[in-house]
Amino acid sequence: MNLNPLNTETLQNDASQAINYLSHYYENVHKYPVRSEVEPVGFNWIASPAATELEAIVLDWMGKLLNLPQQFLFSSGGGGVMHGSTCEAVVCTLAAARDRALDTHGEEKITKLVVYASDQTHFTFQKSAKLVGISPRNFRVLPTYSSRDFGLSPTKLTETIEADISQGLVPLYVCASVGATGSGAVDPIDGLGRIAKEFGAWLHVDAAFAGSACICPEYRHYLNGVEFADSISMNPHKWLLTNMDCTCLWLRNPKLLVDSLSTNSEILRNKASDLNEVIDYKDWQIALSRRFRALKL
Ligand SMILES: *Cc1c(COP(=O)(O)O)cnc(C)c1O
Repeated sequence: MNLNPLNTETLQNDASQAINYLSHYYENVHKYPVRSEVEPVGFNWIASPAATELEAIVLDWMGKLLNLPQQFLFSSGGGGVMHGSTCEAVVCTLAAARDRALDTHGEEKITKLVVYASDQTHFTFQKSAKLVGISPRNFRVLPTYSSRDFGLSPTKLTETIEADISQGLVPLYVCASVGATGSGAVDPIDGLGRIAKEFGAWLHVDAAFAGSACICPEYRHYLNGVEFADSISMNPHKWLLTNMDCTCLWLRNPKLLVDSLSTNSEILRNKASDLNEVIDYKDWQIALSRRFRALKL
Protein backbone atom coordinates (compact mmCIF):
# COMPACT_ATOMS: atom_id res chain seq x y z
CA MET A 1 0.00 0.00 0.00
CA ASN A 2 1.31 3.43 -0.91
CA LEU A 3 0.15 5.67 1.88
CA ASN A 4 0.85 9.28 1.04
CA PRO A 5 0.13 11.45 4.08
CA LEU A 6 0.40 14.62 1.98
CA ASN A 7 -2.42 13.69 -0.37
CA THR A 8 -5.62 14.64 1.44
CA GLU A 9 -7.77 13.08 -1.29
CA THR A 10 -6.44 9.54 -0.88
CA LEU A 11 -5.27 9.67 2.76
CA GLN A 12 -8.60 8.87 4.42
CA ASN A 13 -9.20 5.78 2.32
CA ASP A 14 -5.58 4.55 2.53
CA ALA A 15 -5.43 5.04 6.29
CA SER A 16 -8.67 3.20 6.91
CA GLN A 17 -7.39 0.30 4.77
CA ALA A 18 -4.25 0.20 6.90
CA ILE A 19 -6.28 0.12 10.10
CA ASN A 20 -8.49 -2.67 8.68
CA TYR A 21 -5.41 -4.67 7.79
CA LEU A 22 -3.97 -4.29 11.30
CA SER A 23 -7.16 -5.18 13.12
CA HIS A 24 -7.65 -8.20 10.87
CA TYR A 25 -4.08 -9.25 11.73
CA TYR A 26 -4.67 -8.89 15.48
CA GLU A 27 -7.90 -10.83 15.31
CA ASN A 28 -6.26 -13.69 13.44
CA VAL A 29 -2.74 -13.62 14.82
CA HIS A 30 -3.12 -17.12 16.31
CA LYS A 31 -3.59 -18.53 12.80
CA TYR A 32 -0.23 -17.29 11.55
CA PRO A 33 2.61 -19.83 11.88
CA VAL A 34 5.61 -18.73 13.92
CA ARG A 35 8.60 -19.17 11.68
CA SER A 36 12.26 -19.28 12.54
CA GLU A 37 12.70 -16.12 10.46
CA VAL A 38 10.90 -14.30 13.27
CA GLU A 39 13.60 -12.04 14.55
CA PRO A 40 12.81 -9.93 17.55
CA VAL A 41 15.98 -8.49 19.05
CA GLY A 42 15.67 -9.89 22.53
CA PHE A 43 18.38 -8.06 24.46
CA ASN A 44 16.56 -8.57 27.70
CA TRP A 45 13.31 -10.10 28.86
CA ILE A 46 11.21 -6.99 28.25
CA ALA A 47 12.45 -6.71 24.64
CA SER A 48 11.08 -10.17 23.89
CA PRO A 49 9.51 -12.17 26.70
CA ALA A 50 8.69 -15.02 24.28
CA ALA A 51 12.26 -15.41 23.00
CA THR A 52 13.61 -15.32 26.54
CA GLU A 53 11.12 -17.71 28.12
CA LEU A 54 11.34 -20.19 25.26
CA GLU A 55 15.12 -20.20 25.39
CA ALA A 56 15.04 -21.06 29.09
CA ILE A 57 12.53 -23.84 28.39
CA VAL A 58 14.49 -25.45 25.55
CA LEU A 59 17.71 -25.28 27.55
CA ASP A 60 16.01 -27.25 30.32
CA TRP A 61 14.66 -29.70 27.71
CA MET A 62 18.11 -30.25 26.23
CA GLY A 63 19.61 -30.53 29.70
CA LYS A 64 17.09 -33.24 30.57
CA LEU A 65 17.76 -35.04 27.28
CA LEU A 66 21.43 -35.18 28.23
CA ASN A 67 20.43 -36.25 31.71
CA LEU A 68 22.45 -33.39 33.18
CA PRO A 69 22.35 -33.11 36.96
CA GLN A 70 19.49 -30.97 38.27
CA GLN A 71 21.94 -28.26 39.28
CA PHE A 72 22.26 -27.16 35.62
CA LEU A 73 18.53 -26.66 35.13
CA PHE A 74 16.57 -23.48 35.75
CA SER A 75 14.15 -25.54 37.77
CA SER A 76 16.96 -26.10 40.31
CA GLY A 77 18.81 -22.79 40.42
CA GLY A 78 21.15 -23.38 37.48
CA GLY A 79 20.39 -22.48 33.91
CA GLY A 80 21.46 -22.22 30.32
CA VAL A 81 21.85 -19.86 27.42
CA MET A 82 22.32 -20.12 23.68
CA HIS A 83 25.45 -18.69 22.18
CA GLY A 84 26.62 -18.57 18.59
CA SER A 85 29.68 -20.71 19.19
CA THR A 86 31.63 -22.73 21.70
CA CYS A 87 34.31 -20.07 21.52
CA GLU A 88 31.88 -17.51 22.97
CA ALA A 89 30.77 -19.94 25.67
CA VAL A 90 34.38 -20.48 26.70
CA VAL A 91 35.23 -16.77 26.67
CA CYS A 92 32.21 -15.98 28.86
CA THR A 93 32.80 -18.76 31.38
CA LEU A 94 36.50 -17.88 31.53
CA ALA A 95 35.54 -14.28 32.31
CA ALA A 96 33.21 -15.46 35.08
CA ALA A 97 35.90 -17.73 36.52
CA ARG A 98 38.50 -14.96 36.29
CA ASP A 99 36.31 -12.45 38.12
CA ARG A 100 35.47 -14.95 40.82
CA ALA A 101 39.18 -15.71 41.29
CA LEU A 102 40.18 -12.03 41.37
CA ASP A 103 37.45 -11.41 43.93
CA THR A 104 38.93 -14.11 46.14
CA HIS A 105 42.64 -13.56 45.56
CA GLY A 106 42.84 -9.86 44.74
CA GLU A 107 42.94 -8.00 41.44
CA GLU A 108 46.71 -7.87 41.32
CA LYS A 109 46.71 -11.64 40.80
CA ILE A 110 45.58 -11.25 37.16
CA THR A 111 49.05 -12.21 35.93
CA LYS A 112 49.09 -15.32 38.17
CA LEU A 113 45.98 -17.09 36.86
CA VAL A 114 46.66 -20.40 35.11
CA VAL A 115 44.42 -22.41 32.78
CA TYR A 116 44.74 -26.12 31.98
CA ALA A 117 43.87 -28.21 28.96
CA SER A 118 45.25 -31.21 27.12
CA ASP A 119 47.11 -31.32 23.83
CA GLN A 120 43.82 -32.56 22.31
CA THR A 121 41.74 -29.60 23.51
CA HIS A 122 40.30 -27.40 20.77
CA PHE A 123 42.52 -24.43 19.84
CA THR A 124 39.57 -22.14 20.50
CA PHE A 125 40.41 -22.48 24.20
CA GLN A 126 43.83 -20.87 23.73
CA LYS A 127 42.28 -17.98 21.86
CA SER A 128 39.58 -17.55 24.51
CA ALA A 129 42.13 -17.51 27.34
CA LYS A 130 44.08 -14.81 25.54
CA LEU A 131 40.92 -12.78 25.09
CA VAL A 132 40.19 -12.66 28.82
CA GLY A 133 43.73 -11.60 29.70
CA ILE A 134 45.40 -14.89 30.59
CA SER A 135 49.05 -14.70 29.66
CA PRO A 136 50.10 -17.39 27.14
CA ARG A 137 52.82 -18.10 29.71
CA ASN A 138 50.08 -19.36 32.03
CA PHE A 139 48.42 -21.66 29.53
CA ARG A 140 49.23 -25.29 30.33
CA VAL A 141 48.93 -27.82 27.54
CA LEU A 142 49.20 -31.22 29.22
CA PRO A 143 50.44 -34.14 27.11
CA THR A 144 48.20 -37.15 26.44
CA TYR A 145 49.06 -40.66 25.26
CA SER A 146 47.53 -43.20 22.91
CA SER A 147 47.77 -45.82 25.68
CA ARG A 148 45.09 -43.78 27.55
CA ASP A 149 43.04 -42.98 24.45
CA PHE A 150 44.42 -39.43 24.57
CA GLY A 151 42.44 -38.63 27.73
CA LEU A 152 43.85 -36.04 30.14
CA SER A 153 45.35 -37.77 33.15
CA PRO A 154 44.06 -36.55 36.55
CA THR A 155 47.46 -37.38 38.08
CA LYS A 156 49.20 -35.18 35.53
CA LEU A 157 46.73 -32.39 36.25
CA THR A 158 47.33 -32.61 40.01
CA GLU A 159 51.10 -32.55 39.59
CA THR A 160 50.97 -29.54 37.29
CA ILE A 161 48.60 -27.61 39.56
CA GLU A 162 50.72 -28.34 42.63
CA ALA A 163 53.86 -27.18 40.82
CA ASP A 164 52.09 -23.97 39.80
CA ILE A 165 50.82 -23.28 43.31
CA SER A 166 54.33 -23.72 44.68
CA GLN A 167 55.38 -20.94 42.27
CA GLY A 168 52.74 -18.61 43.68
CA LEU A 169 50.34 -19.12 40.78
CA VAL A 170 46.56 -19.57 41.02
CA PRO A 171 44.78 -22.43 39.21
CA LEU A 172 41.85 -20.84 37.41
CA TYR A 173 40.14 -23.10 34.90
CA VAL A 174 40.31 -26.63 33.57
CA CYS A 175 38.84 -27.38 30.16
CA ALA A 176 37.83 -31.03 29.77
CA SER A 177 36.75 -32.37 26.39
CA VAL A 178 34.09 -34.93 25.69
CA GLY A 179 35.02 -35.64 22.09
CA ALA A 180 38.13 -33.69 21.14
CA THR A 181 37.93 -32.52 17.55
CA GLY A 182 41.08 -34.12 16.23
CA SER A 183 41.02 -37.48 18.02
CA GLY A 184 37.58 -37.87 19.59
CA ALA A 185 39.36 -38.14 22.96
CA VAL A 186 37.18 -38.09 26.06
CA ASP A 187 38.71 -36.72 29.25
CA PRO A 188 37.78 -38.39 32.56
CA ILE A 189 35.48 -35.66 33.85
CA ASP A 190 34.95 -37.36 37.19
CA GLY A 191 38.67 -37.45 38.07
CA LEU A 192 39.41 -34.00 36.67
CA GLY A 193 36.33 -32.52 38.33
CA ARG A 194 37.33 -33.67 41.80
CA ILE A 195 40.74 -32.07 41.37
CA ALA A 196 39.39 -28.81 40.00
CA LYS A 197 37.05 -28.67 42.97
CA GLU A 198 39.83 -29.40 45.45
CA PHE A 199 41.93 -26.52 44.08
CA GLY A 200 39.06 -24.09 43.57
CA ALA A 201 39.41 -24.06 39.79
CA TRP A 202 36.48 -23.79 37.39
CA LEU A 203 35.77 -26.95 35.38
CA HIS A 204 34.29 -26.51 31.94
CA VAL A 205 33.21 -29.48 29.84
CA ASP A 206 33.48 -28.91 26.10
CA ALA A 207 31.22 -31.48 24.46
CA ALA A 208 30.82 -29.49 21.25
CA PHE A 209 30.14 -32.22 18.73
CA ALA A 210 30.07 -35.47 20.73
CA GLY A 211 27.76 -34.12 23.43
CA SER A 212 24.78 -34.92 21.22
CA ALA A 213 25.69 -38.62 21.35
CA CYS A 214 25.36 -38.55 25.15
CA ILE A 215 21.61 -38.24 24.69
CA CYS A 216 21.77 -42.00 23.99
CA PRO A 217 21.78 -43.89 27.29
CA GLU A 218 24.59 -46.15 26.06
CA TYR A 219 26.91 -43.14 25.65
CA ARG A 220 25.77 -41.08 28.61
CA HIS A 221 28.56 -42.50 30.79
CA TYR A 222 31.02 -40.20 28.99
CA LEU A 223 29.44 -37.39 31.00
CA ASN A 224 29.86 -39.15 34.32
CA GLY A 225 31.28 -36.66 36.80
CA VAL A 226 29.63 -33.67 35.12
CA GLU A 227 28.15 -32.93 38.55
CA PHE A 228 31.61 -31.57 39.44
CA ALA A 229 31.59 -29.15 36.50
CA ASP A 230 30.80 -25.45 36.75
CA SER A 231 29.71 -25.31 33.13
CA ILE A 232 29.18 -27.51 30.09
CA SER A 233 28.59 -26.62 26.47
CA MET A 234 27.58 -28.50 23.33
CA ASN A 235 26.72 -27.47 19.78
CA PRO A 236 23.39 -28.75 18.46
CA HIS A 237 24.64 -27.24 15.17
CA LYS A 238 27.00 -30.19 14.89
CA TRP A 239 25.70 -33.74 15.40
CA LEU A 240 22.19 -32.65 16.34
CA LEU A 241 21.81 -31.19 12.84
CA THR A 242 20.38 -27.86 13.94
CA ASN A 243 21.47 -25.15 11.55
CA MET A 244 24.20 -22.67 12.41
CA ASP A 245 24.45 -21.11 14.86
CA CYS A 246 23.43 -22.90 18.02
CA THR A 247 25.59 -23.55 21.08
CA CYS A 248 24.01 -24.54 24.39
CA LEU A 249 25.83 -23.52 27.53
CA TRP A 250 24.69 -24.59 31.00
CA LEU A 251 25.95 -23.23 34.28
CA ARG A 252 25.66 -24.46 37.78
CA ASN A 253 25.71 -20.91 39.10
CA PRO A 254 24.56 -18.48 36.40
CA LYS A 255 24.94 -15.61 38.86
CA LEU A 256 28.71 -15.78 38.45
CA LEU A 257 28.29 -15.27 34.71
CA VAL A 258 25.81 -12.45 35.17
CA ASP A 259 28.01 -10.74 37.77
CA SER A 260 30.83 -10.77 35.26
CA LEU A 261 28.94 -9.76 32.11
CA SER A 262 26.08 -7.53 33.25
CA THR A 263 25.70 -3.92 32.23
CA ASN A 264 23.30 -1.38 33.62
CA SER A 265 22.36 1.09 30.99
CA GLU A 266 19.71 3.68 31.75
CA ILE A 267 18.16 3.20 28.29
CA LEU A 268 17.45 -0.48 29.03
CA ARG A 269 16.05 0.03 32.51
CA ASN A 270 12.65 -1.52 33.07
CA LYS A 271 10.48 -2.70 35.93
CA ALA A 272 10.84 -6.43 35.20
CA SER A 273 14.64 -6.26 35.36
CA ASP A 274 14.62 -4.00 38.41
CA LEU A 275 12.47 -6.52 40.26
CA ASN A 276 15.05 -9.22 39.49
CA GLU A 277 12.32 -11.60 38.46
CA VAL A 278 13.30 -12.23 34.85
CA ILE A 279 16.22 -13.48 32.79
CA ASP A 280 18.01 -10.75 30.87
CA TYR A 281 20.09 -12.78 28.45
CA LYS A 282 22.18 -9.77 27.46
CA ASP A 283 23.98 -10.43 30.76
CA TRP A 284 24.79 -14.03 29.79
CA GLN A 285 26.73 -13.27 26.60
CA ILE A 286 29.19 -10.92 24.93
CA ALA A 287 26.88 -8.97 22.65
CA LEU A 288 23.84 -6.93 23.60
CA SER A 289 21.56 -7.90 20.70
CA ARG A 290 20.59 -11.51 20.24
CA ARG A 291 18.61 -13.71 17.91
CA PHE A 292 15.63 -15.95 18.61
CA ARG A 293 17.63 -19.18 18.42
CA ALA A 294 15.31 -21.17 20.71
CA LEU A 295 12.74 -21.61 17.97
CA LYS A 296 14.92 -23.77 15.73
CA LEU A 297 16.02 -25.98 18.60
C1 LIG B 1 33.79 -27.51 16.88
C2 LIG B 1 34.43 -27.53 18.19
C3 LIG B 1 34.73 -26.34 18.89
C4 LIG B 1 34.52 -24.98 18.30
O1 LIG B 1 33.20 -24.73 18.15
P1 LIG B 1 32.68 -23.30 17.65
O2 LIG B 1 31.23 -23.38 17.95
O3 LIG B 1 32.98 -23.24 16.19
O4 LIG B 1 33.39 -22.24 18.41
C5 LIG B 1 35.24 -26.45 20.17
N1 LIG B 1 35.46 -27.64 20.74
C6 LIG B 1 35.21 -28.81 20.09
C7 LIG B 1 35.49 -30.10 20.79
C8 LIG B 1 34.69 -28.79 18.80
O5 LIG B 1 34.44 -29.95 18.16
